[in-house]
Amino acid sequence: MGPDWYCDEVIPGRVAVEVLAKTGRTLAFRPPIPGFGTDHVIVIPTLHVTSLLDLDDDLAVELLGTVKEVAALAVEQHGGCQVLTTLGSEQHNRHLHWHVAVGEGVARFVAR
Ligand SMILES: [Zn+2]
Repeated sequence: MGPDWYCDEVIPGRVAVEVLAKTGRTLAFRPPIPGFGTDHVIVIPTLHVTSLLDLDDDLAVELLGTVKEVAALAVEQHGGCQVLTTLGSEQHNRHLHWHVAVGEGVARFVAR
């Protein structure tokens, strides 16, 4: 998996993924190798955007709409989910992507 697996493989259709939702500029899919959780969906812009910090407001609305669609499905099917994106040293793939994840293996925020 290269530094931008989404632009290199997913968006051009070089790898088969299960598409859950899409718009003109966004795509939500289950990765072929489960990332984490019992259900895990990735949501990306289909134009290259490096991270949340580089996302323009217009595309942000469209992208969050797709995140919302798959998150609603996860809540309906599993009762809850986590929605997260990573930045800087925490971001291993240099293409903005949101995780919508359910179940074990998802980060847990512990109340202090
Ligand atoms: Zn990219």
